[in-house]
Amino acid sequence: MSTEATVFFPTLLSTLKVGAHTLGNRTLMGSMHTRLESLDRSIDRLSLFYAERARGGAGLIVTGGYAPCQDGLLDETGPLLVTTEQADALKPIPQAVHAEGGKIILQILHTGRYAKVARPVGASEIPSPINPRAPRALSTAEVWQTIEDYVRCAELAQRAGFDGVEIMGSEGYLLNQFTVTRTNKRGDEFGGSMENRHRLPVEIVRRTRARVGPEFLLMFRVSALDLVEGGAPADEIAHLAQAVQAAGADIINTGIGWHEARIPTIAYVVPRAAWRFAAARIKKAVTIPVIVSNRINTPEVAEDILASGDADMVSMARPFLADADFVRKAAEGRADEINTCIACNQACLDYIFSERPATCLVNPRAGRELEFSLLPPRAVPRTVAVIGAGAAGLACALTAAERGHAVTLFEAGPEIGGQLNLARAVPGKQEFNELLRYFKQGVARHGVTLKLNTRADAPALVNGHYDRIVVATGVRPRTPQIPGIAHPKVVSYADLLSGRAQAGRKVAVIGAGGIGFDVATFLLHETPPDGPRPQTVAQFQSEWGVDTSPTAAGGLKPMQSVSSPREVTLLQRKPEKPGRSLGMTTGWAIKAELARRGLRTLSGCSYERIDDAGLHLSVNGVPQTLEVDTIVLCAGQDSENALLAELRALGLTPDLIGGAELATELDALRAIDQGTRLGLAL
Ligand code: NAP
Ligand code: SF4
Repeated sequence: MSTEATVFFPTLLSTLKVGAHTLGNRTLMGSMHTRLESLDRSIDRLSLFYAERARGGAGLIVTGGYAPCQDGLLDETGPLLVTTEQADALKPIPQAVHAEGGKIILQILHTGRYAKVARPVGASEIPSPINPRAPRALSTAEVWQTIEDYVRCAELAQRAGFDGVEIMGSEGYLLNQFTVTRTNKRGDEFGGSMENRHRLPVEIVRRTRARVGPEFLLMFRVSALDLVEGGAPADEIAHLAQAVQAAGADIINTGIGWHEARIPTIAYVVPRAAWRFAAARIKKAVTIPVIVSNRINTPEVAEDILASGDADMVSMARPFLADADFVRKAAEGRADEINTCIACNQACLDYIFSERPATCLVNPRAGRELEFSLLPPRAVPRTVAVIGAGAAGLACALTAAERGHAVTLFEAGPEIGGQLNLARAVPGKQEFNELLRYFKQGVARHGVTLKLNTRADAPALVNGHYDRIVVATGVRPRTPQIPGIAHPKVVSYADLLSGRAQAGRKVAVIGAGGIGFDVATFLLHETPPDGPRPQTVAQFQSEWGVDTSPTAAGGLKPMQSVSSPREVTLLQRKPEKPGRSLGMTTGWAIKAELARRGLRTLSGCSYERIDDAGLHLSVNGVPQTLEVDTIVLCAGQDSENALLAELRALGLTPDLIGGAELATELDALRAIDQGTRLGLAL
């Protein structure tokens, strides 16, 4: 018998020499501004947040961006590193990471014309389409001062004890604004020729290296693909990578797309590893290590990229929010236990952009380690019955079982997942399969007694003598009161997405919330009977107009038209434009994709009746008939909580969570958060 231990993910988990440092593996927890930076006790919270990721095995961590000067702030309260006092205050962060055996570098970020401050600065006076505040152009002397600000900021990071800095040169921030003709119309030594446009980042790297010495890790993040008109072609990007290497960078990280790009780069609609080709181009141009980024969320995908030689290291920001132990689990052959990032953006980027601290839909503990660590590590074991294996019930049952309770999970249907099973039927949302896999293996591994096809009734629960009973029976689709609602043309979203009902060629969808848009997506794609297939990278590139040829400026080409199997009209009663409730960082891409597929939307609807002719309604007071084959109801939900009253009538005091407690605006984020918190409190 062989005594050799199996080595999992041998390339991903091999060491990597970067400058004077040797990293334990090739995973990078990429930079993510968490908004924890501006909160009370932020240093404690950030220290714990990063320390957990270091303990879980992240090869290298990058902090959120710190501005090197007042002009570079993200917004008026954004993090700034310009004084020795500020540097000293940051010391606990690298100390906490080093205590766990990790390494951490600080990102220096000057937002340029993206700054949400009274008067942003830029390379030229060209406003950004995503910032109403017009920039003023930096004078030549101010650009030289900005270089000095970066160098000083790096020195302060060194003083604070960080292992290095990442100089942020992508995503359309200041340095990127200087490197391309789209935003740089300058006539001085920082504009015009390619060498002049590259001068700002190259001088920053050169002078920083000279001042911080050879031991301090210098990472430069280059925009590997701008995805905006007037962006750089591949040869200019390769030239910049070579120039920062020559100036003293130890490693090159890659960013994809400016914030103003109209192509999604990290949302769930982007296929996994879609951008590896852009990192591979840079890797061919330089001899220092190159990091690939965006939509890499499993160790299998990461290993595949590294083993192919397309890159030397893999950046994952959101996957480390979703699971701090990503690396440890991969290394121990427990990859199926990883809580996988589903690329929803709901609790990370959407929170950050609405000025809330980031957390994670699949891992409510993320960013709140301090709060969660105050709970006792183990509870007095109890017997717990959880009724309903949707997102809330699963999170509660799994958390309670992890804490040593004896949990029985009742589910009336033949499988776990509840509404998660409907979400994964929507084209583009296949990542929900990973969440179900996580829950499935978790409840099995922690010994939850799972009773499928079992409708738990109140007397049986009383007879079970459980210490605690949790009602997580979810929601049922709301049926609006419209004459003719029982017509055979009418189906619920649940019946449609679960395959119990089919739709004809012409369809009206009543209700334009998140589920209405999901249903429209389902209807406007060809979906095989066994569920949607993820879009291939080639299909994504052609549909969104991504040009992989090296000469394409910004990596753009015309978007290809797409055909749809149906004509779909999405309706709402409110007079406003539909789609307001969609996620801030994903909704625009969903709407653009559906518009290309011919989705028609109507607001200000009043539904009159349904009959053989179709749906009769008035739109802003004007009567009309939609001659449709099918009408899908997506008019919200009502709580399914009859069991609660039955249990109370028998003298019990059950807990109530998820949609069973409150159907309004119920989503997986609230369900998992509430289920996890109750599981911890039992
Ligand atoms: P929702 O967002 O509340 O939308 C319900 C829709 O039905 C609204 O458009 C509402 O607009 C309409 N409606 C409500 N009562 C009606 C009635 N009696 N008759 C006719 N129309 C009625 O709920 P949802 O779409 O069911 O989604 C549930 C939750 O899941 C939400 O929190 C949602 O954000 C979340 N979710 C999000 C996404 C995503 O962001 N991609 C996807 C799926 C689910 P009018 O009243 O104006 O007609
Ligand atoms: Fe990933 Fe969604 Fe969690 Fe963000 S909220 S880290 S996108 S799973």
